[in-house]
Amino acid sequence: MRASFYEGAGRFRIGAAEVPKAGHDEALLRVRRVGICGTDLHIFQGHLDHRVPRGGVIGHETLAEIAEAPAASGFRAGERVVVEPLRVCGACRACRTGAAYLCYRLKVLGVDEPGGMQEFWTVATDRLLSVPATLSDDEAAMIEPLAVAAHDVRRAQVSAGDAVVVIGGGPIGALIAMVARQRGARVIVSELNPFRVEMLAKLGIDVVGPGRDLAAFVEEWTGGDGADVVFEVTGNAAAVRAMTGLVRVQGTISMVAIHAEPIPVDLYRFFARELTLHGSRLYARQDWEEALRLAATGAVTLAPLVSRRLPLESLQQGMEEALRGGPVMKVLIDLAP
Ligand SMILES: [Zn+2]
Ligand SMILES: [Zn+2]
Repeated sequence: MRASFYEGAGRFRIGAAEVPKAGHDEALLRVRRVGICGTDLHIFQGHLDHRVPRGGVIGHETLAEIAEAPAASGFRAGERVVVEPLRVCGACRACRTGAAYLCYRLKVLGVDEPGGMQEFWTVATDRLLSVPATLSDDEAAMIEPLAVAAHDVRRAQVSAGDAVVVIGGGPIGALIAMVARQRGARVIVSELNPFRVEMLAKLGIDVVGPGRDLAAFVEEWTGGDGADVVFEVTGNAAAVRAMTGLVRVQGTISMVAIHAEPIPVDLYRFFARELTLHGSRLYARQDWEEALRLAATGAVTLAPLVSRRLPLESLQQGMEEALRGGPVMKVLIDLAP
């Protein structure tokens, strides 16, 4: 079978590998689509070399079909599934208290352990969720990022009537906006990339684009109060400088982005307005179920977010294009034969 191997910063190698053998609690999957996301771009740039081994197979946003599964699992050959790409210990404090996705010994498939950028992949059957027939392959490949967004919105307790600001209108920011809107919130997204501004507008999402003063806009938009919830989804220091100025008294900031370096935060604002800041990472099983429900009912539209589909052989090119920040939203790798 074909697979893509990480060979260090800036390099993927396409090569042949043995089809893996499924263990007794595992299914053998035939991979169909794998999304490329911000985490993969960090891997590509070598930022996660302490986690991703040389020769490792990345890919954690996967749609596959069952090639073989144990009869007791209930999965049938040919059935389409998405993969919750986490391996947890089941015994640590996080696992015991309902937050297994924050397991102290968490392994992310496609980062720490082999992922979906290969034609066949073995995964524990308790990590698989069936895909409703109404979803296309492309849409189903977006369930993982939608589960992230569902988790972020749930954790921030967004409710009807809230004024929500999303800083960063990439795939996750766009999905957070759609999930929050679906809960009855008023939402605006701040985004600089003109291609993304246009795409968000087409999805009916209100955008504060380049050349506009976000703080002044939010001030006016909320009648001087400030936003109930601000999501930071960019990973940029400028967004962190801006975020504290956008929130109402006793409002909430949700840190969704990965900030690799410590950066200054206006802590005076936390004191003066009694703000709350929390991190928001990955997802629980209920967020996957919510994502499947939102997608299957059409409450969230996924297909327009897919900018392009590339064969596995073009993974490197896809990464390079995504890094240049050009006219892309979601890029999917298509492994279908
Ligand atoms: Zn991802
Ligand atoms: Zn654990």
